[in-house]
Amino acid sequence: MRETDPGGRLTFNVARLLAEGPGASRAFPVAGVMLDLGDELRQADPLEGTIHAVRTNRGLLVTGRLETSLEGSCSRCLEDIEVPITIDLEEEVLPSVDPATGAPIDTSSEPDVLRLTDHHELELGETVREAISLAEPIAPLCRPDCPGLCAVCGAELSSGPHDHPDSAIDPRLEVLRSFRADRPS
Ligand SMILES: [Zn+2]
Ligand SMILES: [Zn+2]
Repeated sequence: MRETDPGGRLTFNVARLLAEGPGASRAFPVAGVMLDLGDELRQADPLEGTIHAVRTNRGLLVTGRLETSLEGSCSRCLEDIEVPITIDLEEEVLPSVDPATGAPIDTSSEPDVLRLTDHHELELGETVREAISLAEPIAPLCRPDCPGLCAVCGAELSSGPHDHPDSAIDPRLEVLRSFRADRPS
């Protein structure tokens, strides 16, 4: 079974921070988080890093750097590898209820902005999932100079030089072979 982020180690209560004035800040450590990334992506290592939230006039400015690695395969030799990725977050997050009165805020003028929950929680699960998808390298390599696979036999070239029966063939037989191939059957 895939381990997921059940109740939100990427969810942070920011009620106290909202009650403070602009400029107040908090740091939220992130450790050991495995997300459900769908069918295409799997984390090889848990997320680690720190989320910083700064109180602004309007809400919060959320920044952070998180590191993890994804299960992948080398785009040249197809070997299974772990692909390290770093994601940098920078999001303005606005309340959905007035922090002072609890009254709902009209969010229709800014429908695309990330919102805190009604309970003053910062939920970053979906944002982080998206950032991981975007950070996935298109053609990861097991090492920068991976020589890939032999075009003739498909063997890994990193395992050393190798011969083929074709290249070791007796030159006289080679002549015979091409002669036969040229003959109409
Ligand atoms: Zn490789
Ligand atoms: Zn080969």
